[in-house]
Order: sequence, then C-alpha cells, then structure tokens
Amino acid sequence: MFLSGEQMISGTDVKDFDSVEYPIMEHFYTIQGEGAHSGRAAYFIRTAGCDVKCWWCDVKDSWDASKHPRLKTGMVADLAKASGAAFVVVTGGEPLLHDLLPLTSSLKARGLEVHIETSGSSPLSGQLDWITLSPKRFKKPVDEIYPYVDELKVVVLTKKDLTWAEEHAAKCPVGTRLLLQPEWDTPKSMPLIVDYVKANPQWGISLQTHKFLNVP
Ligand code: SF4
Repeated sequence: MFLSGEQMISGTDVKDFDSVEYPIMEHFYTIQGEGAHSGRAAYFIRTAGCDVKCWWCDVKDSWDASKHPRLKTGMVADLAKASGAAFVVVTGGEPLLHDLLPLTSSLKARGLEVHIETSGSSPLSGQLDWITLSPKRFKKPVDEIYPYVDELKVVVLTKKDLTWAEEHAAKCPVGTRLLLQPEWDTPKSMPLIVDYVKANPQWGISLQTHKFLNVP
C-alpha cells in the first residue's frame, strides 16, 4: 500500500508495525550528499536486497538480503528519532523490494519526514513524503510510480542517457526536480551534462558531494 506523507493510516495500529523486521545493511546519521536535499542532515536506512544489479553499482554488498541482519522497525525508528535528524532516507539495495508501509509508518509516527531513493522497479509502497526516482536500464520503473515522483535523478554516462532521461521526465508530474548526475568513477560525462543543462535549464546537476568530502 502507498500513502503520501500527510495521509493517515486508518484501521491499523501503527504500534503493530514496530515489530516488523526488514533485512538492513546499515543505518546511520549523516549528511544527504546528493540530489535536491543535498547538504541536509539525514538518517539513512539502507535495506538489503536488490534484483536490478547495475554493473557499476557501488553498494553490491547490499544485493544479497540473506547476508544482512533482520532488524525490527521500531528499534531502527527509535534510533532515527534519537539522532535528531529532520528526515530519513530509505535507500538500498532496492527498498521497494519490501513492503515499506510498516517501516515508513513507524518513522512517520515518530514525527519524521520520510524520503525514498529507488529505481522504481518494484511496486510502490510506504508512507512517503519525497520520492526520488533513479531509473535503471537493467530493470525499468513500474508505470504506477511516475505520478508520485518528486525528484528524477538520472546517472549519465553517454549521450544516450540524456534521451533516456527525457523519456522519464515526460512521465513525471510538472514541477518534478530534474537532475543529471555523472557517474562517480568515470565523470567523463561532466562536459556533456554541463552543455545539456545550459541548453535545457529545467534540468540541474546532482553531484555525490559526500564522496568529495569523505562523509560516510
Ligand atoms: S538499483 Fe541501486 S543498489 Fe541496485 S544495483 Fe542498481 S545502483 Fe545498485
């Protein structure tokens, strides 16, 4: 089930969700390094499990969910709240491989804003304030996600990726933040991105600033 951030859950005691377990690779308080909320302090929850398998993925350890502990939602949500973070970023792996309603509702019940970063390749679920869609060619997004996208972030390696980015932008709501991001290891695409953004100012550039600054 998907709910936007301000919708209330009815008929379910959110407390019941606190004992639901998810495979979680890591969770930590840090600075959001990329995208529209770059530079803001955020609590990151990285779920384990990914069936997209991009060859250039920098979190391949997240792919096999069985290698990671299953943690109770309530415990993780309490730590997120205690951190003082203004918002939580649920990422992966591919977080939408899991039904995110229990985890995200527990976070919302503690007054936390909940963001997700996803390839959109599995059904949309959860109670979410901000959806960052980062589509991947290896497993395309499901159509149902597009009307809810707040931020579209496309990794660009070659010119073909710019066409790919526009195809996704055409499906997102008016006002979606449109961002192009160079690949971290081979930022050869940067001149391509700069020229494109100058010619198409509805797009912006997202950089992985946490990697420049060595913020974990
Ligand atoms: S979707 Fe994300 S976690 Fe999964 S392989 Fe691609 S980059 Fe890695």
